[in-house]
Amino acid sequence: MTASLAILEADRCLRCGEPADPAPCTVACPCELEVPRFLQAVTRGGWEEAAEVMFSENLLAASCALLCPAGELCQQACALTREGERPIAIGLLERFVADLALDNPWARFRVGAPPTGKRIAVIGAGPAGLVCAGELAALGHGVRVYEASGEFGGLLQYGIAARRREASHLAEEVRAIIALGVELYLDTPIDTPERLWEIERQCDAIFIGIGPGADGDCGVPGDTLPGVVRAGSFLDRARRGVPLQPGTRVVVIGGGNTALDVARAARRVGAAQVSVLYRRSEPEMPAYREQLELARSESIRIHFLTQPVEFLGTTRLTAVRCMGTRLEAWDDFDQPLPVPVAGSDFVLGADLAVTAVGRTPPLGFLRRVEGLDLDRGRPRVDPVSGQTTNPKYFAGGAVVGGGGSIVAAVRSGRRAARGIDRWLARETPAWPGRPAHVAPDRTEPGWGE
Ligand SMILES: Cc1cc2nc3c(=O)[nH]c(=O)nc-3n(C[C@H](O)[C@H](O)[C@H](O)COP(=O)(O)OP(=O)(O)OC[C@H]3O[C@@H](n4cnc5c(N)ncnc54)[C@H](O)[C@@H]3O)c2cc1C
Repeated sequence: MTASLAILEADRCLRCGEPADPAPCTVACPCELEVPRFLQAVTRGGWEEAAEVMFSENLLAASCALLCPAGELCQQACALTREGERPIAIGLLERFVADLALDNPWARFRVGAPPTGKRIAVIGAGPAGLVCAGELAALGHGVRVYEASGEFGGLLQYGIAARRREASHLAEEVRAIIALGVELYLDTPIDTPERLWEIERQCDAIFIGIGPGADGDCGVPGDTLPGVVRAGSFLDRARRGVPLQPGTRVVVIGGGNTALDVARAARRVGAAQVSVLYRRSEPEMPAYREQLELARSESIRIHFLTQPVEFLGTTRLTAVRCMGTRLEAWDDFDQPLPVPVAGSDFVLGADLAVTAVGRTPPLGFLRRVEGLDLDRGRPRVDPVSGQTTNPKYFAGGAVVGGGGSIVAAVRSGRRAARGIDRWLARETPAWPGRPAHVAPDRTEPGWGE
């Protein structure tokens, strides 16, 4: 992208939408980015103004520009597609503007408010926690972020690894958040009741942004054999560029974006052959279509209506016994239920099997919080403010939704910051007194299954 190409591309915008009836691209963006206003600024070559539109609503706008599934969100909604035309390349334009913004001194778009004297703890420095912290600091509150690992960004780091690390502006974005007054403590897990109580005593409110929990167990016989690993541990190695042995055949179990990320990462680190087993059919696959097409273009074989029934091998994995399935009835999540088809089993040779079958909620942490109601292991929250059933605690991002995307985590972090601010000013009653709700991120597609 060059400046003149960016201007020509932005100029294709039909300028639909108005304040009372926002454009479809704005409605499709979980952060409600005013896309037409952004595109108008680009058309005029107003790079600083365009960047301001992006960053004023989203402190991680550059990360979202790099990693958002734009083809499933704003671009899919673009009014041009209804006229049979190609949608505006909004994601690419945002990336171009973000690159300019963070390479230039006019990158600071937010200024802090006078101190309020209130103290808030944010647990977890993933996108939800970082945004919540930055927004609260911009409102004048004292904010400390406690992060268990030695790195900020949470699962966002996996998305970055799948793109080009040098294209990421996360470090600059976090610097800007810290410049708003946020104190960030890495290598500081809040993993004992004592640590949590201490924070509770010291703070006026707490935001839980600890992510979706650990990789789930696929419960297939033989899953303890060497050579069978979980998605997170494989992706950590791939992120560090650890190559596979030449000729390695990889089988991935799961049908979500994480499974396809694993499959594509396996290709990057030298797998000779990659197969994905998904127990439902293509229309039910939760992965984004764009991801599926990319996987196919990299010669990754997808076996639909197939599930593993046993990992085979004596000292380590040598093959996966698989079985065909057919879809019958519906489960509790309104998904068709895969039922094994007798006599359909076959054996797939494999040196490495990676399971990507969803996440187990972080119950060890959540059960320590007094009065926290859980729904299928996830905190029940007010969709507007993120307040939990313990009024001092707010929660957002993947700990609530289980999966989701970076932009969805950003939105819930921002909403919770506003919710905390209103709660501290006693402008709103505690949420459990208000009507029941549906957890906001649960219905969204994303990196979940
Ligand atoms: C393989 C993979 C690839 C992905 N790629 C993309 C992509 O390309 N685009 C996209 O939009 N989304 C992507 N996602 C999804 C996206 O990364 C997540 O939806 C998002 O990061 C969730 O943000 P979060 O802040 O809620 O949680 P997380 O990102 O999980 O962050 C939670 C943080 O809390 C910390 N923590 C946990 N427990 C504690 C504790 N007790 N004390 C202190 N800290 C704690 C964790 O260490 C972590 O840093 C991907 C996800 C995966 C798994």
